[in-house]
Amino acid sequence: MENKKQNILIIGAGLCGSLLALRLGQRGYNVIVYEMRPDLRSTDISAGRSINLAFSDRGNKAMKMVGIEDKVKALCIPMNGRMLHDKEGNTFLSNYSGREYEYINSISRSELNALLLTEAEKHDNVTIHFNKRCQSVDFEKTTALFEDYNTKDEFIEDADCIIATDGAGSALRKSYFLERKFLFSFSQQWLTHGYKELSILPSENGDYKTYKNALHIWPRGDFMVIALPNLDGSFTVTLFLSYTEGEYNFNNLTTPKIVTEFFEKEFPDALELMPNLVDDFFENPTAPLGTVKCSPWHYKGNTLLMGDSAHAIVPFYGQGMNASFEDVVEFDKILDQNLGSWETIFLTYEKIRKKDTDAIADLAVDNFHEMKDHVGQAIFQEKRKIEMA
Ligand code: FAD
Repeated sequence: MENKKQNILIIGAGLCGSLLALRLGQRGYNVIVYEMRPDLRSTDISAGRSINLAFSDRGNKAMKMVGIEDKVKALCIPMNGRMLHDKEGNTFLSNYSGREYEYINSISRSELNALLLTEAEKHDNVTIHFNKRCQSVDFEKTTALFEDYNTKDEFIEDADCIIATDGAGSALRKSYFLERKFLFSFSQQWLTHGYKELSILPSENGDYKTYKNALHIWPRGDFMVIALPNLDGSFTVTLFLSYTEGEYNFNNLTTPKIVTEFFEKEFPDALELMPNLVDDFFENPTAPLGTVKCSPWHYKGNTLLMGDSAHAIVPFYGQGMNASFEDVVEFDKILDQNLGSWETIFLTYEKIRKKDTDAIADLAVDNFHEMKDHVGQAIFQEKRKIEMA
């Protein structure tokens, strides 16, 4: 259906919502976007979870679709493989596929989000409003209730259809769940582990303190640390750890002394690069990790869930954002089919897409165990075999 006069309301201008706004703008729809946070291009806020992300070919296909591949490439740092760190500080670089030309990229969430917003706003038919939080969606009437963050005024917006790209805590999904007007299945599975972001700052002369072009992993059986490079010479470090289990866990890492002891014992080579560890540890939040599955994603032809709002996954396959970008690519292909009504479009989209997003969700949980335990064991065993040969 290519009725250019159709008004589409998008809730959430994160990675998926800003890409969707750009693509629908390119297709000629009237697009209005409401984002609850301030504009990250003019405010000093983090873009939300995880400062940087692994950006793969799946995500890059979406950038090609909207014609900004080169602009995105300038934000990317190729990571040619995983660099494993053992407790003694030995390292081993393992290519992802054995083929040296294959790599994934590290990319800044906020830079990528900012680029997508700017590209979307180049279209006169796309308008983005910030500081407007969606409270609920009336999916029968195709209207959404918003609150202005500054004035606290509430207002209602209507549209020909509403697409929610408002992430794992989606307001539309909550409305589906709470209203109980149709059979809506929903599950949310939490991991026993949470995560905390830390950092390795650049050296005094601005250089990277460890090898730049790798995804660094310190696998330790039941927990792990990873680090991805940033363009400014720093690395964003993420500690994945149980909340309650094991000798060290998030609940008992309560003092600078215990945190330092933990890193001295488990990650001594990382600690050497992180003089700011204790400040980071106590300033930065600890956040949970979960998988959201639900169905149906749409209500008639009125409303649709897309991105994390439909299928939030744990980050261990590095594919949540990439899959959310792929949502937009698949949706775009379905629009090309001129199926007639939004209802048919939404039905077709969910039919094609859900099996894939369910599969990546399960793979991501499997890869959690693989990364924190097996990757380290298998690769270090392989390394010992090579050394002995
Ligand atoms: P979000 O990025 O969550 O964006 C939702 C937007 O909606 C936000 O801007 C939010 O402010 C806004 N919003 C929310 N509620 C409302 C409301 N009520 N009204 C208005 N606006 C609202 N993926 C990868 O591909 N590679 C990785 O390496 C990777 N690493 C990750 C590491 C961690 C620690 C985590 C937690 C996730 C990681 N992910 C990764 C997953 C990735 O972050 C998500 O899949 C991706 O952000 C989903 O994009 P989205 O736009 O659907 O949702």
